[in-house]
Amino acid sequence: LRAHDDILGPLGSLFAAAGHELYLVGGSVRDALLGRLSSDLDFTTNALPEHVQALLAGWADHQWDTGIDFGTVSAVKHGRQIEITTFRSDKYDRVSRNPIVQYGSTLEDDLVRRDFTLNAMAVRIGPDGAGEFVDPLGGLDALLEGVLDTPTTPEASFDDDPLRMLRAARFVAQLGFTMLPRVRAAIENMAEQIDRITVERVTAELDKLILGEFAVDGIDALCETGIAARILPEVPAMTLEIDEHHQHKDVYQHSLTVLQQAIDLEDGDPDLVLRWAALLHDIGKPDTKRNEPGGGVSFHHHEVVGAKMVRRRLRALKFPKKLTDDIAQLVFLHLRFHGYGKGQWTDSAVRRYVTDAGDLLPRLHKLVRADCTTRNKRRAASLQATYDDLERRIAALAEQEDLARVRPDLDGNAIMELLGIPAGPQVGEAWKFLKELRLDRGPLSREDAEKELLAWWAAKS
Ligand code: ATP
Ligand code: MG
Repeated sequence: LRAHDDILGPLGSLFAAAGHELYLVGGSVRDALLGRLSSDLDFTTNALPEHVQALLAGWADHQWDTGIDFGTVSAVKHGRQIEITTFRSDKYDRVSRNPIVQYGSTLEDDLVRRDFTLNAMAVRIGPDGAGEFVDPLGGLDALLEGVLDTPTTPEASFDDDPLRMLRAARFVAQLGFTMLPRVRAAIENMAEQIDRITVERVTAELDKLILGEFAVDGIDALCETGIAARILPEVPAMTLEIDEHHQHKDVYQHSLTVLQQAIDLEDGDPDLVLRWAALLHDIGKPDTKRNEPGGGVSFHHHEVVGAKMVRRRLRALKFPKKLTDDIAQLVFLHLRFHGYGKGQWTDSAVRRYVTDAGDLLPRLHKLVRADCTTRNKRRAASLQATYDDLERRIAALAEQEDLARVRPDLDGNAIMELLGIPAGPQVGEAWKFLKELRLDRGPLSREDAEKELLAWWAAKS
């Protein structure tokens, strides 16, 4: 915590001088003990929010009160965000189950209503930032053992806030911890209660889960406990589906393998788009098979169905449009490579592959390579070699032309001038024609492009 002395010191003195208690709590304490303290600091206090506001007024660089209804005052100091929440002891509305915010009088009340014991540790911050570790619920033991347990019974806790069931899987994914058997059993019994939670809260946790270092374990926990069946049903539906090569028996296990492979191929930061695409890349398989009972699944059909299913699910989860589009596009494109027998693609096919991927190309490379891992080592090696070949083709073509930005050889103005037409839908059609031509044949001379366009125009009218 030394790294935060410049905040803890003055803040501790400020609260002590006013006669209030101040504790660092929750994720901040957990992460500090794990040696991965984030830059944001969460505190709890017995001071009421208006007192906290008054205390911070002369000290923080900036403060705001969006969380004031929940007793939280937020501020920024030295570029770091701090949140100070008045002790809470929530009651839950028996009908709506929404929390009724009530201020508690003791730290213990506040800690016991938290989600897991490892998130219910505190450090009392005295004057000049002197710290004293407070852990009435055994959070440190849980942390050392790597287990998730609830402060009260898991049933009571999850009944109060079912989101905690999803948070359990999220912490599995972030920390690599395991749920205590009683926690897991309660989730299995209560999984459908997750339906009470708003989509926004669910999605925020899902994102954190899939970005976790142990994302595969987190997804597996979601599926095994039955939570996934409520919020991401297509993923557990892949269990025991046999894929068309009969190579990996279980498309679900294969999806987890590909997710792990994709994570291993990341360079640096966790890649949300790549991870979702890896998890969902074969989402269309079960459906494709149901719709084509005769067997023989065409790649194309699978691509279209898969991308559609991805869109439907991610839209339901209210993912941002760009994120949804990118993930769906990767799922759509990931199989095309399997039509690439070594060197068989025309330049046109290579161009279309690069153009359709656009900015996603580096991720597409990773996704396809992650997918080229079958149980059969020799087949996997041969697939990788074939993909090496495709990447070489792309690089070679990129030396001859600007592959990253394939555009028609004539722009809108040139089209209007040549055809003698005003701006309008016909210009768009001509532009599209030229773009297709450019994809098929590569860069044309201006003369050839004009000749082709005039021939197209004459055939049209
Ligand atoms: P991170 O900020 O890294 O995502 P965190 O543990 O800090 O992880 P937050 O959502 O920021 O998670 O919550 C801060 C703290 O508030 C938690 O550590 C926990 O003590 C408590 N908390 C958060 N959500 C809940 C919940 N649904 N039920 C009970 N306690 C919660
Ligand atoms: Mg936090």
